[in-house]
Amino acid sequence: MSEVIVRYTVDDDEVIQSTDGDWSLVETDVIGTSLWDYVRSETLRDIYRALFARARGGEDVAFEYRCDSFTHRRFMRMRIAKSGEGLTCESILLDAIPRDEPLPIVAASRGHNLVTRCSVCNTYGVGRDWVDVIDAVTASRLLADERPVRTIHGVCPSCIQSLRGLTA
Ligand SMILES: [Zn+2]
Repeated sequence: MSEVIVRYTVDDDEVIQSTDGDWSLVETDVIGTSLWDYVRSETLRDIYRALFARARGGEDVAFEYRCDSFTHRRFMRMRIAKSGEGLTCESILLDAIPRDEPLPIVAASRGHNLVTRCSVCNTYGVGRDWVDVIDAVTASRLLADERPVRTIHGVCPSCIQSLRGLTA
């Protein structure tokens, strides 16, 4: 399996110029909007800026990441390459492994039960460890708590390290 599921181009100011692929999950028209509207974490923005700078220099930048759904573990690959006046970013679905049990986690806009999720490898911070969501749910009893769970997006220490390696 190696199908492009999402492709978009950005100009020098990271404004989205065109899209194709499966954007059915995107509710709004993204053309003309800034990519940074969708990347809220400053840490991730810095990492993307660094990767874009390398791609603008002519390098083909690629890395793998996780983008899980409630029903599947999805292994993705992002590729960033120079094209025309801007950059083309492609997200490719490499593999999707169904979960034994669908996950009923709901990201709520408010609530006191906060969990940090790594936006790159999709692990969850539990104490000092970063673990798969199943382990996170088990260890921190997220779903046994009546309060809504709110996900905070971050980047785990090992992904910070490997992404810095890419941009060094
Ligand atoms: Zn990570």
